[in-house]
Amino acid sequence: MRNIVLFGPPGAGKGTQSVLLVDHFGFVHLSTGDIFRANIKGGTELGKLAKSFLDSGQLVPDDVTIQILEDTANGHPEAKGFIFDGFPRTKAQAEALDRFLESKGQSITAMLALEVEEEELRQRLSKRAETSGRVDDADPLVIQKRIDVYNAETAPVAEHYKGQNKYQGIAGMGTIEDIFGRLSSALEGGV
Ligand code: ADP
Repeated sequence: MRNIVLFGPPGAGKGTQSVLLVDHFGFVHLSTGDIFRANIKGGTELGKLAKSFLDSGQLVPDDVTIQILEDTANGHPEAKGFIFDGFPRTKAQAEALDRFLESKGQSITAMLALEVEEEELRQRLSKRAETSGRVDDADPLVIQKRIDVYNAETAPVAEHYKGQNKYQGIAGMGTIEDIFGRLSSALEGGV
């Protein structure tokens, strides 16, 4: 069983690559962003709580996020391995994920970190706004807020995995196929 953290700033291509990785390697994809958006759409209590955070580019509080991640993972006892996309986004989430997996006799195999320049991220997110319908893609100020939150709170999560010798940087520029090729090589190379 391999459990992968797919890491990178907003717009790095985590969602796009996750779809390909699921198809090719049979992981279960767990995206906290997708979970929150589905709850907002469905009008659940969680959705009501999460909406203002998503719309303004802030993080949903750790306790709420960790609980929903664990509940969703527990709903997939058949999983041969998970891709965690958009989680962990804080050090507290990374520590909680370690404890959660450890309680099941498992662990994170690797963090694959998509590396993309900031200017490219801004362009990709504005472009995605034309089709995604996402409030947080449509406003340049919210995009900037997400990048700032990433740099302040999420980028340090890489240190957590570097300390465990699990960090692997992947060039996130180029075509979708190029990037998928790099991720696949990392996974086939024994990650
Ligand atoms: P992106 O990486 O493109 O910004 P995501 O779909 O991963 O988008 O996340 C969208 C939003 O959902 C975030 O800006 C944040 O408000 C919320 N969110 C997603 N994952 C987390 C998390 N692990 N912790 C806190 N908030 C989260």
